[in-house]
Amino acid sequence: MKYTFELSISPDKENVLNEILYKKLGIGTNDLKASEILKKSIDARKKPDIFYKYSFLLEFNNAEAGKKAVKRGAKPAAERVSYMWPDYGTFPSEIKRSRPVIAGFGPAGIFAALYLARAGLCPVVIERGAEMSERIRKVEAFHNGGTLNKNSNVQFGEGGAGTFSDGKLNTGVKDKYGRNRAVLEVFHEFGAQEEILYDGRAHIGTDVIRKVVVNIRKEIERLGGEVKFNTLLEKPDIKDGKLCGIYIRSEKEAYLPCTDLILAIGHSARDTYEMLHDMDFPMEAKSFAVGFRVIHKAEFINECQYGEGYRSRFPDLPAAYYKLAYTTQSGRNVYSFCMCPGGYVVNASSEEGRLAVNGMSNAPRDGAYSNAAMVLNVGPADFGDGDVLAGMRYQRVLEEKAFRLGEGKIPVQFYKDFERIVSGETEENVKDESGKRIDEYRKNGIYGDVMESDLTELFTASMNLSFVEGMRHYNHSMKGYADSDPLLCGVESRTSAPIRILRNEHLQSLSVRGIYPCGEGAGYAGGITSAAMDGLKCAESVFESIKENVLK
Ligand SMILES: Cc1cc2nc3c(=O)[nH]c(=O)nc-3n(C[C@H](O)[C@H](O)[C@H](O)COP(=O)(O)OP(=O)(O)OC[C@H]3O[C@@H](n4cnc5c(N)ncnc54)[C@H](O)[C@@H]3O)c2cc1C
Repeated sequence: MKYTFELSISPDKENVLNEILYKKLGIGTNDLKASEILKKSIDARKKPDIFYKYSFLLEFNNAEAGKKAVKRGAKPAAERVSYMWPDYGTFPSEIKRSRPVIAGFGPAGIFAALYLARAGLCPVVIERGAEMSERIRKVEAFHNGGTLNKNSNVQFGEGGAGTFSDGKLNTGVKDKYGRNRAVLEVFHEFGAQEEILYDGRAHIGTDVIRKVVVNIRKEIERLGGEVKFNTLLEKPDIKDGKLCGIYIRSEKEAYLPCTDLILAIGHSARDTYEMLHDMDFPMEAKSFAVGFRVIHKAEFINECQYGEGYRSRFPDLPAAYYKLAYTTQSGRNVYSFCMCPGGYVVNASSEEGRLAVNGMSNAPRDGAYSNAAMVLNVGPADFGDGDVLAGMRYQRVLEEKAFRLGEGKIPVQFYKDFERIVSGETEENVKDESGKRIDEYRKNGIYGDVMESDLTELFTASMNLSFVEGMRHYNHSMKGYADSDPLLCGVESRTSAPIRILRNEHLQSLSVRGIYPCGEGAGYAGGITSAAMDGLKCAESVFESIKENVLK
């Protein structure tokens, strides 16, 4: 029988964790058969006292020890749901001909492909962007002042949007099939840190996730799958409401017969959205959020969260995280999103003449700065409900403005300058020696060239006022959040998909049998783990449909 047991220890006692565990349980070292960390999180509510909160899964060698432990707070553990991966030999060998196809090799496409490869169905993946090493070269060249590659950039290419990221793995998606745990276990199996299996704020980091993605891809190929890079899904071929094949383009156009297509294209595939819209695929507009990346010194955020002078007691605490949410008097939500402790702001553009930013960090999160998107919710009231793609066009308008404001570079402005202008102080009074300060941030906190600009020109006056109201509010909840004069970077416009491609209970498009809208781009996920989980869900549905058709 297994038990769970909660334990809080001071971070400077981590090296004697086991000793403390035995003592708390009142058992000897020989009484414990197995112990596994289920969850670990930081509790800084009573700073300067800070604790690591552990939850263990324990198994004892004898009933006596179990009884003692229960007296000390251990509880019988619920059975863990194990994810059911398919059996490789499910289908007779001749079935391999009708290979399922996946468009997009982001987290959703990757996990769909792995599932179908493990089912012995030899999936074909088409990915408009380049394989990892070539993609990295193109992104680094762009961040160092080179030209944007519209198919291999921070949004597109092997690994999808999650590659140049902090690799945060949290999700709020409810999961009774064990998909969430399965996603973490796969990332760990192919090279991610063990901590992701139990860390309350698990993250992989861009430096590690790049290797993990390539390892998973090699496994898919080993199982008979195939990934075609630099290959764009141009158009599905549909007859009588059923998928017959797809038109794809790499060097030249080609046709791929198929009856099952998982559409895992991500939230930035605007040309593909337009193609699907023109083909009358049932879709609906979806609200999302826009704003700025806000950059603070990492140590300032650490002291806010851990207390002043925390380092003298707990030198090894990780870069601190924060999550903020507030609703203004006018009813606008202003909240932090995708926070990157000890990370970098990245130029995450994917279209010429348009500029978007996002955040990224390496596994150690040891950068000098910490950033987060500070965003405002927007909907049809902000971008009109003329048609379902109005939100996407609104994103484009904001990104064109940002591109113009920064003259092709990331437009930046210190918060106090922004606030002075919003509160009506004239521009002349504000320009000071911010240039030098910006260089510091540029060198150590931003990937991509920057230009000091007036960011109050990006949004409407009422949105600017809401933003300032939110920042002022946070200045109290996180002392100095605004007064420390953080640097703002524009524009954070791709917080989630502006549309949802409608699907039925079999996860197939409402209008075309055989097409499975999947992941963030289709409006069914937000983040790496939830996209990966939706990839598994769609692959399970393809698997069942093929089984039904073949083994009937
Ligand atoms: C810089 C950045 C940092 C982020 N940080 C985090 C984080 O820390 N944690 C987190 O949970 N989430 C993060 N996100 C969000 C996360 O990356 C996405 O939610 C997730 O990647 C969505 O997965 P997906 O597979 O649905 O789509 P995507 O990852 O967007 O993948 C879609 C893929 O489809 C390809 N594609 C598009 N159109 C076509 C076509 N027509 N033909 C062929 N291929 C096509 C694209 O090239 C792309 O590779 C971040 C995003 C960015 C951009």
